[in-house]
This record gives sequence, structure tokens and C-alpha cells, in this order.
Amino acid sequence: MVYFVGAGPGAPDLITLRGDKLLRCADMIIYAGSLVNPALLDVAKPGCELYDSAGMTLEQVIEKMLATEQKDKMTVRLHTGDPSIYGAIREQMDELDKCGISFEVVPGVSSMNAAAAALNAEYTLPGVSQSVIVTRIEGRTPVPELEDIASLAVHRATMVIFLSTGLIKNLTEKLLNGGVSPDCPAAIVYKASWPEEKIIRTTVSNLAYVAKREGIENTALILIGEFLGNEYKRSKLYHAGFSHGYRRGLEGETDGT
Ligand code: SAH
Repeated sequence: MVYFVGAGPGAPDLITLRGDKLLRCADMIIYAGSLVNPALLDVAKPGCELYDSAGMTLEQVIEKMLATEQKDKMTVRLHTGDPSIYGAIREQMDELDKCGISFEVVPGVSSMNAAAAALNAEYTLPGVSQSVIVTRIEGRTPVPELEDIASLAVHRATMVIFLSTGLIKNLTEKLLNGGVSPDCPAAIVYKASWPEEKIIRTTVSNLAYVAKREGIENTALILIGEFLGNEYKRSKLYHAGFSHGYRRGLEGETDGT
């Protein structure tokens, strides 16, 4: 059996209980060494084989998994954050399917959640934005044309931008081309939940400058939107005048939302 496990954003106690349990009984752990905190591997049992996938190809990863399966042993494939976000797990699952090997995915706390926590922020603020765009700028991995940053920015929704600190100037240009105000609040969160975490609050026009000043090149998220500002509306859910299935508001009427 192969388990794809979300390691969480970095802090070893931000893995799920299920993920931790699996790490403790794995016979082999293949971890994404460029991002996964090695402290997580401390719980591996004696004799557990450890491989850093940073220097491996898809074929080599699958080969290791097959060899472990043949011995009737258990593999944990440890991915940073949540495996469903830029985790490259689909191609592994498809290969395992072809070989008739069972697998299961264990979710993790994504760095996008850890970044919001670090900022004491809420991505979906009433009256500001009710949508979160999770994206990246095109680098060596192409991005479909309709998902160009400039076209996504037109929505003025909260944007969580992965894998883009290396191209931050280009990113800024695209945001401005999409009509985002140069003064729109922005933040960079470097290594959220790690001891070396850095939080930088700025504006869209200053993103490239502050990234350079702080020497941030990778392992950071760029957050864009008025959710980082001071204006928002109170939630309906906890408003005294609002009724819903679990609470009758002062003014009566249930509107069902
Ligand atoms: N599956 C991961 C993302 C993997 S892609 C997740 O859910 O978080 C790798 C990118 O994620 C990095 O380039 C960076 O943009 C972001 N990232 C991963 N860990 C991070 C962290 N602790 N703090 C900030 N950004 C992080």
C-alpha cells in the first residue's frame, strides 16, 4: 500500500494525526526534500528506508514503490503542504493504477492556510471577496492562456500565488495590467510555520522591492487583495438580526442562506 501524505507547511506538529501515524509505521518514506521539513522524518521507525525525491525522476520514484510493494511493505510518499496543490501526485497515482497498486491520499495543511494564519487573515471577507484564486505565474511550467495572472486579477478576488517569487517583477506587471491598483494591499509570507518564517506586508507596486530587500527567492507565497486591508462587512452568520437553521435572530425572518 502507498500513502500520499500531506506533510503540512513545515512545522512538524502541523501534519495530521493520520499522517503522523502512517509516518511512524512506514517501511519506506519518499519525501520531497526541497520543501518538507526533515524533522518530520525523526518519527520513522528503525530500518525505514528514506529517499529524497528532489533528485529522482517519476520513474525512479515508482520503481522504489514497486520494489517495496513486492516485499509487501508500506510506502509513505510525503509531499509538502497538501498534496493536491502543485503536488504532482496525479501522475504517480496513474502509474500505480497501471501497476495495480492500491494507494490512498491523506490531506495536509497547505502553506496557503499557514500563510493566512501567520497574517491573522481571512481570505473570504464579507463585502471584500468571497472567492480565492489559487494560482502561479507561468515559469518553465506553462499556464493555460485563460489563466494568465492579468485575466485572473480582473476579478479582484483574493489571490494566493504559489511558485512565483522568482518572477515577482513580471507578476507585478501582470497584476497592474489586470487593473489591480498599485496601492492594493499585498503580502509575502516566507516559510510559513518554520522558525525562519518572515511576514512582509506591502502593496502591489512595492512587491519586487521588498522581496529583493528581504532576499526572498523561494518558499514563499504572495498574497494579493483587499482582504489584507481594514474594510469589511460583518458576517451575516453571527449577526444578531440574522436568523438561520440554528439560531433565531432578533428580527425574525430566516432567509435560508
Ligand atoms: N503542496 C504545497 C505546495 C507545493 S508547491 C502546499 O500545499 O503548500 C511549492 C510552493 O509552495 C513554494 O514555491 C511556495 O510558493 C509554496 N510553499 C510551500 N511551503 C511553504 C511555506 N511553508 N511557506 C510559504 N510558501 C510555501
